[in-house]
Amino acid sequence: MKVKLTVERAKEKLAKFCKKITESDLVIGTWGNISRYLPDEQQVVITPSGVEYDEIKPHMLVVVDMDGNVLEGELEPSSELKMHLAVYAARPDLRAVMHTHSPYASALAVSGVSIPPIMEDMAAVIGGEVPVAEYALAGSEELARNTVKAMGNRNAVLLANHGVVGVGSCLAEAMNVCLMVERCAKVYFMARQVGTPRALSPEDVSTIRDFYLKKYGQVYEKTSKHLRERY
Ligand code: 13P
Ligand code: ZN
Repeated sequence: MKVKLTVERAKEKLAKFCKKITESDLVIGTWGNISRYLPDEQQVVITPSGVEYDEIKPHMLVVVDMDGNVLEGELEPSSELKMHLAVYAARPDLRAVMHTHSPYASALAVSGVSIPPIMEDMAAVIGGEVPVAEYALAGSEELARNTVKAMGNRNAVLLANHGVVGVGSCLAEAMNVCLMVERCAKVYFMARQVGTPRALSPEDVSTIRDFYLKKYGQVYEKTSKHLRERY
């Protein structure tokens, strides 16, 4: 049975992902941010701005409404709040957004090079190419617009001269997407050293993505929802 995700539970889970992210190469210091959307409440739980991830405790997370008004929390919400809210507004299917500054993906973002769909796991988890959103200043309304525009219905986007945004139906999936983007960026770099990387065809990408969404993994309900949707 699915357990309802209350605001308190969402804060606990998000705090766990703040710990997890410090053990990855996705961020350094206070850079990057994470949020979880609660559709019933129409609220978003988001990391505070400029706080070291390993210091973040559940009570330090900020709860906002969909207009960005702070409902709970004493700290300033992430400076990328507009971007997180714009992504949720454009994509009602999403429940989690993670923004990172991982090095290989950022190198491509600096060069304005998108990641073609070069790997099977990438096609499954991300659903195709990772495009580069046009440059705009961090935290700006314009960056929020550019992010949404470039992302379309895919699960990841590179932010020019900045980093990565990965999204998903839960925090685990958004983090998986960010890890996958970094790994594919690295593979793409290496592949370019030894030859000309060949992308998967749009037909194969769509078959792989479809299989992943409908059949891959453990189906625990007749509604064919995947385990990952519980988190
Ligand atoms: P915050 O610490 O305000 O979340 O900002 C970090 C960041 O990555 C800005 O783009
Ligand atoms: Zn950033």
